[in-house]
Amino acid sequence: MPIATETTLEINLKALTQNFNYLKSKLQPGVQFMGVVKAFAYGSDSVVIAQKLQELKADYLAVAYASEGVVLRDAGNKLPILVLHPQTVNFDKIAERCLEPGIYSPLMLKRFIAFAESLNLQDYPIHIKVNTGMNRIGFTPEEVSSIPELLQKTTSVKVKSIFSHLAASEDVANRAFAERQISLFKKTSDELIEALGYVPLRHTLNTSGILNFPEAQFDMVRSGIGLYGFGNDALENKNLEPVASLKTIISQIHHIKKGESVGYNFGFIASKNTVTATLPLGHADGIHRGYGKGKGFVTIKGNKAPMIGNICMDMLMIDITGIDCNEGDEVLVFGKTTTAEAFAERINSISYEIITAISQRVKRIVVH
Ligand SMILES: *Cc1c(COP(=O)(O)O)cnc(C)c1O
Repeated sequence: MPIATETTLEINLKALTQNFNYLKSKLQPGVQFMGVVKAFAYGSDSVVIAQKLQELKADYLAVAYASEGVVLRDAGNKLPILVLHPQTVNFDKIAERCLEPGIYSPLMLKRFIAFAESLNLQDYPIHIKVNTGMNRIGFTPEEVSSIPELLQKTTSVKVKSIFSHLAASEDVANRAFAERQISLFKKTSDELIEALGYVPLRHTLNTSGILNFPEAQFDMVRSGIGLYGFGNDALENKNLEPVASLKTIISQIHHIKKGESVGYNFGFIASKNTVTATLPLGHADGIHRGYGKGKGFVTIKGNKAPMIGNICMDMLMIDITGIDCNEGDEVLVFGKTTTAEAFAERINSISYEIITAISQRVKRIVVH
């Protein structure tokens, strides 16, 4: 790994490949793999990750919003791309870039059909999202029964897949809830398929679903967090490797006398003579203010150094008393040893939030 000379987010494509192969090894033969690359591929780099997933022969990509799919198409990605949460205002962008909308309500289906007809589109691929208990977006099972009638009147769209989302797939104490969702999904999709007269793909598992509900793989699975190295489970985390490592350097070292303060609003007051270091990393880079006042820590040559005082916009200060280090030395925030998940726990957060929060200002470098 290169030594950091400024704040960098390292993206390890070898780790991505291993995670992909591990998750694929959990699938029954013929089950397709959709790589979820929304939110800049969970805070890393969606173009780079999507390109690698295409090389690895993933079957599908998913993004949350149309604009995220546009970026991938404009970078030349050829995989089919599901837009999980499209909006009417973006239908033009979706069709121009051959993105495939996840249709989640009767209103949206009517609007998309009208849009597709206005452009004389034929068999445009759409995906039907069913709400089986998450109560976020999706057709209720009752609403699903109105879909065939709407589709019979048009040749402009064709259902490429039917999908749902589990509300607590990582929560082994509540397996029964997920099992009810899965059986409702099966029943609702069986009925829709029968009425359509053709057979779209079916999918309902996210990463934790892949790991905990192997019987519900249907035709495809959708994995995000697992690709990036987290399994929402201490045991599974051992089989996965974090893709992103956040590193920075020491900008300046200060010798603070007992009684002096450090940073805004006297957020740290030295109770003894203290050596501090200032890092070029702040809340504008994605380090939440909650990490201040000793909650967060970084690692320098294997030594933990707590974040002290208030996190500033572009900088934060750490206590390096007793640690042998110099200005310019590399500092690890999270990565392989201190994982983003362990870092997240310090402020009662989760890996998803921490890795997606790393702002676009932080330089990305790809390591192979
Ligand atoms: C984000 C998302 C996923 C991916 O979930 P992970 O837990 O990251 O694997 C799958 N499906 C839907 C609908 C999503 O919004």
